[in-house]
Amino acid sequence: MKKIFVPIFALAAILLMSQTSAKNKTTVTPTQPKLVVGIVVDQMRFDYIYRFWNKYSANGIKRLVNEGYFCRNTNFNYMPTFTGPGHASIFTGTTPAVHGIISNNWYDRSAGKEVYCAQDQTVNGVGSTAEEGRRSPARMLTSTVCDQLRLSSIKKSRTFGIALKDRGAILPAGHTANGAFWYDGASGNWITSSYYMSQLPAWVNTFNAKKLPQTYLAQTWNTLLPIEQYTESLPDDNPYEGLFKGETKPVFPHDLAKLQDANGKLGLIRSTPWGNTLTAEFAKALIEGEQLGKTAFTDMLTLSFSSPDYVGHMYGPQSIEAEDTYLRFDQDLANFLTFLDTYLGKNNVLVFLTADHGAVEVPQYLKDNKIPAGYFDERILSDSLKKVLTRTYGDSLLLSYSNDQIFLDRKTIAAKKLNKPEIERFVADYCMKFEGVAATMTATDLNANQYDMRPKREVQNGYNFQRSGDVCVILKPSWFGEWDRKTGTTHGAPWSYDTHVPLLWYGWKVQHGSTDVPVNIPDIAPTLSLMLNIQYPSGCTGQPIMGITK
Ligand SMILES: [Zn+2]
Repeated sequence: MKKIFVPIFALAAILLMSQTSAKNKTTVTPTQPKLVVGIVVDQMRFDYIYRFWNKYSANGIKRLVNEGYFCRNTNFNYMPTFTGPGHASIFTGTTPAVHGIISNNWYDRSAGKEVYCAQDQTVNGVGSTAEEGRRSPARMLTSTVCDQLRLSSIKKSRTFGIALKDRGAILPAGHTANGAFWYDGASGNWITSSYYMSQLPAWVNTFNAKKLPQTYLAQTWNTLLPIEQYTESLPDDNPYEGLFKGETKPVFPHDLAKLQDANGKLGLIRSTPWGNTLTAEFAKALIEGEQLGKTAFTDMLTLSFSSPDYVGHMYGPQSIEAEDTYLRFDQDLANFLTFLDTYLGKNNVLVFLTADHGAVEVPQYLKDNKIPAGYFDERILSDSLKKVLTRTYGDSLLLSYSNDQIFLDRKTIAAKKLNKPEIERFVADYCMKFEGVAATMTATDLNANQYDMRPKREVQNGYNFQRSGDVCVILKPSWFGEWDRKTGTTHGAPWSYDTHVPLLWYGWKVQHGSTDVPVNIPDIAPTLSLMLNIQYPSGCTGQPIMGITK
């Protein structure tokens, strides 16, 4: 016994010693990250990782995939897949049914008019007197992971949101954010609102004074690589692309200096790859200006890149303009990751990257290639519905048709003692007669049933009983509701081209690997919460993803 015991003990001691010395040699992963950076690409399909792979640089997207953890089967599990709901769902860990951001704009019954998801008339712009400054997360009904980080640290962790689009900055950072900053196209400045602070921090004024938008827009947009190398995209001149005002063909080079006046002046930067560069530069300035990651408490930055969405809408997923925007975004990302390496070190920063929605190929392009697709004219349905309701019930009963939902006049229905479920069913059945409609669902259906398959599950997860309409219309795959636009793309559907997006984790404690196990977008926030040992966001319905950390 003794003879065996001694060698085993000795071996264990040697092993322990060698482990300790190995640990001393390599960097020990800290128990918590100093900084979390949640990156959202506004409009990025899953397939862009692979379609442009050979052209990405070594240190951007490729670094996240080659060193990080890739959840390849990540989907939005609700509709409409728009920017406001997307950003809210990523960071609240739930869907519009619970967080209440049911669209970018929606018909508000109590106000009797359309409202905007980040609009707040009780606050004022800081750094701008424009209406675009009157923004806050007040309409979002639940907390984000940033809020939970603030609550758990008694507000010692600091949290910030950044995006050209106000909603992309405001919703992720949540209700308790130390700041959210967005871009004012009129002045070319980054601004905020009185919800967060009474004046811009000095570092923001210093950044604005550099007038980077003016510099970026003084140039001509040429392709990053020789244009003949863009074999992943359609020819530059094709009928599926929209036009900048003042251009007659959708082709390179785009003379930005010349285009400015007719295309939103300094706001033009949104529709160019330099909107991303500007955002990344501002993020670096914020991290340094606020000295994020330099205390004992984990800080968090949410960073949304809006420009791919503007470019995607105008040119569509098959355009050289879109490809060039992602290739240049990849360079901005590489630059930003390198900055984080130097500033805090990879082991101290936890990064994730995802998108707020995908996009459909231009429907006309699909049609021309024999794939079923179409354009749905909501006005025809709406006008026709008003007539038939008036004939049947003596009143049009239609308050709004927006975001594929029909809002009925509940007051008149009650006053006339009409049967609401019957009217809902009548409307739902009537809508089914129109080409392009895949299915309809009523508020009564949604209240009584639980749906667990696409696309009805997506409607249910997107349906908020206080805010949503009375009848929901689901269009067939690759049909889109912007009937008057035959070029470019959009999103919002419950179908995979809009729901399937990348999700990459990188840095602190993240192991290298990938999974094809289904992940829903609301799973991101609880995953992050577990990593940070904090409570889930208040309305969280997602489940943590397993296997990401070592
Ligand atoms: Zn978006």
